Amino acid sequence: MNGLMMHEPLLISALLRHAERHHGEQQVVSRLVEGGIHRQSYRELATRARQLARAMAALGVQPGQRVGTLAWNGHRHLELYYAVSGMGSVLHTLNPRLHGDQIVWIAEHAEDQVLCFDLTFLPLVEALAPRLTGVRHFVLMADRAHMPAQTAIPNLLCYEELLAAQSDAYDWPRLDENAACSLCYTSGTTGNPKGVLYSHRSTLLHAFAAALPDAFNLSARDAVLPVVPMFHVNAWGIPYAACLAGAKLVLPGPGLDGKSLHELFEAEGVTLSAGVPTVWQGLLAHVQGNDLRFTTMQRTVIGGAAAPPAMIRAFEDGLGVQVIHAWGMTELSPLGTVGVLKGTQRDWSAEARRAVLAKQGRSVFGIDMKIVDPDGSELPWDGQAAGELMVRGHWVAAGYLGAPQPELDWFGTGDVATIDAQGFMNITDRVKDVIKSGGEWIGSIDLEHIAMAHPAVAMAACIAARHPKWDERPLLIVVRKPGAELTRDELLAFYEGKVAKWWLPDDVVFVDAIPLGATGKVLKNVLRERYADHLLRSA
Ligand code: ADP
Repeated sequence: MNGLMMHEPLLISALLRHAERHHGEQQVVSRLVEGGIHRQSYRELATRARQLARAMAALGVQPGQRVGTLAWNGHRHLELYYAVSGMGSVLHTLNPRLHGDQIVWIAEHAEDQVLCFDLTFLPLVEALAPRLTGVRHFVLMADRAHMPAQTAIPNLLCYEELLAAQSDAYDWPRLDENAACSLCYTSGTTGNPKGVLYSHRSTLLHAFAAALPDAFNLSARDAVLPVVPMFHVNAWGIPYAACLAGAKLVLPGPGLDGKSLHELFEAEGVTLSAGVPTVWQGLLAHVQGNDLRFTTMQRTVIGGAAAPPAMIRAFEDGLGVQVIHAWGMTELSPLGTVGVLKGTQRDWSAEARRAVLAKQGRSVFGIDMKIVDPDGSELPWDGQAAGELMVRGHWVAAGYLGAPQPELDWFGTGDVATIDAQGFMNITDRVKDVIKSGGEWIGSIDLEHIAMAHPAVAMAACIAARHPKWDERPLLIVVRKPGAELTRDELLAFYEGKVAKWWLPDDVVFVDAIPLGATGKVLKNVLRERYADHLLRSA
């Protein structure tokens, strides 16, 4: 017997409709690529998204077809998020930090019909356009005044003119909630990138979960600023969750340096933010270096790579900002776990609480997880046993675009983790980054965190270096803070008493900079190419 309840499909357009009707006056504030601050209400966002949906239809974009974007976090990108998905087409956010060859490969693989891009990326698109043979229309996300007088791009269209030519008389179609709404490629540090195709249903359920009190805790009283780009797993779902909650949305455009961010946080009364650790490093350096404070910031989500405990302490103790350590991946839309205490842990000692909060956290409702040994047998939740992390849930990819997979019961994340008795998961490494020393595993992340806690260290990465006797040994690659002095022996002495002796890195290489990938994460494969033979050379 069925229940007798209405069936409302879970659609992206429902989020926008809700924001328009119930939070119509709420603000979306954007720092524009062209300069200046732009303000619009959710009511205006909804009106412009309807105009844009008509404009896309007028360009011949059909349901299911892909519209690519190369854009920062800004109101026009947000309008594309809602218009393209809402009309039943698929928003494909390309990462402009990728190599041009990869952008072309991905746009062609996705069969993008239209490419919309910010002014910043005009030279990039001019260079790539001749190779983007499948793209029928190029749209510059600007007004007429900012259109180039001359360009190599044939029939370059002006976003604001496309909008102005349309009324907002448009009804969002009642789509199947399983229809695709957006597409995001994994960064593909090894092999070709893979397309993760989200559905309306998965995206809506993810937005509900992201807003929950034990996740981002997002409400109509918040002003949320996603530093994480809208081309990095849909800015972790914040553009959707903000409409769901009726939160003010502050979009930083290209200004991701510490100074620009801090100014915007303060000027717009930002209460919540989210980004990868490398971005927060820049912000912290600016805030601490200039003796600044946050007057409205309450909490920040750190994820995408492990948040060093030293960074968590700097935010919490130094600046009074709660850190929400989260783990996820493109294939998980991206949210999997969040590090927020349970009631039973509230009266634990400060040290014990800190240790819990440094972990990647517990599963949000909608994601189940387990850890397994190499044979696939489940490992105990004792905080000690480490194995590959497997997940399943309402917003986990079941396959990749153009590469359907057999029905998966569990998705293998490629991460190595422990889970403790309270269900807090701790990533010790990626499977491919683990250091295999004489048959035992050494987790690189712990070793990095210790180095990062040294006052003279700006950044540290630990890789597996080949070793004649032990196969692999840990090698530390370190960037010193500007003006700081630190020797190899001083840094290694800092490890004493913090790890087992056989975990001690064999050597330290000091460098000027550590290479970062397109999503702001350390490129360990590049470091390995450079330094894998370091111990053999120095032996
Ligand atoms: P890629 O880094 O390949 O572009 P994603 O952006 O999807 O792919 O990143 C997912 C991976 O990032 C995870 O599998 C995990 O290794 C790492 N990651 C994400 N969040 C955390 C975290 N809080 N701590 C440690 N690693 C994390």
